[in-house]
Amino acid sequence: MPELPEVETVRRGLADLIEGRSFKSIQLNRKDIRFPMRDGLGDVARGQTVTHVGRRGKYMIIELDGAKRLLIHLGMSGRLILGADVMADELFYQKQQINPRHNHVIMTFNDAAVIYNDPRRFGMVDLLDPDGGHYLLAHLGPEPLANEFDGHWLAQRLRFSKTSIKEKLLDQNLVAGIGNIYASESLHLAGINPKRKAGNIALPRLVNLAEAIRNTLQRAIEAGGSSLKDYRGVRGAPGYFQHQFNVYDRAGEMCRSCGKDNIRKIQQSGRASYYCAACQR
Ligand SMILES: [Zn+2]
Repeated sequence: MPELPEVETVRRGLADLIEGRSFKSIQLNRKDIRFPMRDGLGDVARGQTVTHVGRRGKYMIIELDGAKRLLIHLGMSGRLILGADVMADELFYQKQQINPRHNHVIMTFNDAAVIYNDPRRFGMVDLLDPDGGHYLLAHLGPEPLANEFDGHWLAQRLRFSKTSIKEKLLDQNLVAGIGNIYASESLHLAGINPKRKAGNIALPRLVNLAEAIRNTLQRAIEAGGSSLKDYRGVRGAPGYFQHQFNVYDRAGEMCRSCGKDNIRKIQQSGRASYYCAACQR
């Protein structure tokens, strides 16, 4: 599932292509993706210019000069494919193992196109409400790369929590954009065991954790995200951060930090966590 660094990489590619361009049409090939498509979605953007492509957590927001805003979430397997040339290019689809049958939304601009392709259909394309809000954004926690997110925020929100810190980091209402990969990697960098109860971690360690999260996400963005199964950038290029994983997907391999122990894999709420028992306490 794309997490913040992958979505940010896609957002940058999308912004480069469509900021300043005018919409010709939005073609909806289905009535729903994860949710039913909103009435009128196909018509709202026609003739309008994209002023900005933003991001909130794992959501992308396309702002238009007519004040409407489109909301895109890639879900588990959603991809945005850019470029008018790509649309009819069978070779691109073959090479990227993309089935055009899953092209659910096609946004056309004067001389460009953006295709939303999503085989598993956990993603979405929607409109923000007229006031700029959306029920899916309403309770999101702070952006981890923004100043409002720090160890004090974590301390305040995690006080008394008996849930494990790993599970809490996946809670988008605590902090937006972190998923399984970056929760595991950040906890390793901070030296915190994923099983530790969130409410039992002292403030200095939470300050370290907030810093580790920012550091990990920033390095991942610089590497273009992590490509495991589905994720690719907007022009089909993979990310490279998977080569820098210290723990994620490395069960049984030696810990590169301490060299003393092998990486372990456990299940927490049905999700895999990876950690080193020697350096994460
Ligand atoms: Zn270690």
